[in-house]
Amino acid sequence: LIMLSEGTIIALSTPNGVGAIGVIRLSGNLAIEKTGLFVFPKNKKSCKNILPNTAFLADFIYKEQLIDEVLVTFFKGPNSYTGEDVVEISCHGSSYILQKIISCFLESKVLPAQPGEFTLRAYLNKKMDLSQAEAVADIIASESEAAHRIAMQQMRGGFSKNMEELRQQLIQFKALIELELDFSEEEVSFANKDQLKGLLSTLHNDIYMLKESFLFGNVIKNGVPVAIAGKPNAGKSSLLNTLFNEEKAIVSNIPGTTRDVIEDTLTIDGIIFRFIDTAGLRETSDLIEAMGVKKAREKITQASLLIYLYERTTAFKDLISEIKSLQHKNQNLILIENKIDQYSDGFDNILNNELLSALDSKENIFGMGISTLTSESIAPLKAHLVKTLKEMGDKATVVVNNSRHYHALINAFKAIEITMDGLENDIPGDLLSIELKEAIFYIGSITGNIDNDQDVLGTIFGQFCIGK
Ligand code: GDP
Repeated sequence: LIMLSEGTIIALSTPNGVGAIGVIRLSGNLAIEKTGLFVFPKNKKSCKNILPNTAFLADFIYKEQLIDEVLVTFFKGPNSYTGEDVVEISCHGSSYILQKIISCFLESKVLPAQPGEFTLRAYLNKKMDLSQAEAVADIIASESEAAHRIAMQQMRGGFSKNMEELRQQLIQFKALIELELDFSEEEVSFANKDQLKGLLSTLHNDIYMLKESFLFGNVIKNGVPVAIAGKPNAGKSSLLNTLFNEEKAIVSNIPGTTRDVIEDTLTIDGIIFRFIDTAGLRETSDLIEAMGVKKAREKITQASLLIYLYERTTAFKDLISEIKSLQHKNQNLILIENKIDQYSDGFDNILNNELLSALDSKENIFGMGISTLTSESIAPLKAHLVKTLKEMGDKATVVVNNSRHYHALINAFKAIEITMDGLENDIPGDLLSIELKEAIFYIGSITGNIDNDQDVLGTIFGQFCIGK
């Protein structure tokens, strides 16, 4: 469980190990005073007279021994990351110097920071709400351009500001309804029910959009699942190898060799794709292979994108029935003829179009021909993957990428629906007030406007590294 210490804290904010420079951060009301014990500005001024938001060069001296020449930046609270006085000391990145500087402060009663404690303090001092604090962790962890963009948007307020405003309005309605209860004898009405209905319906829409955006936000953060399916020997492993330019899967010409599900991520144009090669789908009596087929089917259902590979020699009827059995709603399908190098006329566009039109859903499907042997049309395939993803992203203006927020949104959505129902059926005010309370609670749990629950905070900030 997280400890909410009140003292001045210190931690290394850059990674452990040798670097050109390292940054050590202090936060708390004694930050400047403690810094003054060891840091002597080159301009001979005392640390106490240092102007905020400026950097100054100084000697770091411990017991008359010069430890390093450092660059110090001072931020006066509340205008700092944590909302408290913050000092950042940039020194040479030797692990000896870093350890030495930190131990000097620990010796003089500065406390070692807990994981995420700087950000936790920022949250507790209202420098950011909970969803913004969580976005800090996402920004630090973001490994692709798209994941970075979403985390950045969330750190800057994202949807939480809008939710908070709507929540405040709900709180007002709840108060009015409770006031009515006090006057129940007199049959007065303070709350305008039509306005409340309007507010609930706005919330209902907004939360619905946010809830939906999670599907996209989550894939951007963890990689877009792309399943590669097709008959044994269609060239699935070869496609994977070509995409990755290395031998990830075993390519062989014996049908049914890819027994397991192979998964690997590849970043194309700043988007992480998680490619799933699936066991050759076929009826089989081999038990292990049958398990592979079952696993493959599950993976295919979960994928956002399905690449179906075929050879033009496969019976039309067979292909159609297999694709239909695999594809599910809201899934983008890319129907690909492989091995076009074998034919002088290349890609059989006519056959591909016939297949496409035989499939029920006309949306989100795209056909093309490739050769994994010669790499023909591999680049356009990659471009198409990126384009599909960007189109999915354009639909969502704000994206939820955090599963805690997602679950809070689901609960809030349910509570809003129940409240709307209640209102529609003219339930008594005391019941309505209870429903509203639920909705207010779940919306509040996104931004953290709940009584600071130690468990929730502990789970969230415990995942940070020390120094963040
Ligand atoms: P999988 O069972 O779907 O994973 O298929 P593999 O990737 O193991 O490929 C099956 C066979 O088809 C292998 O002998 C590959 O060399 C061959 N193959 C795959 N792609 C191509 C291609 O584009 N052109 C040709 N000519 N052969 C290919």
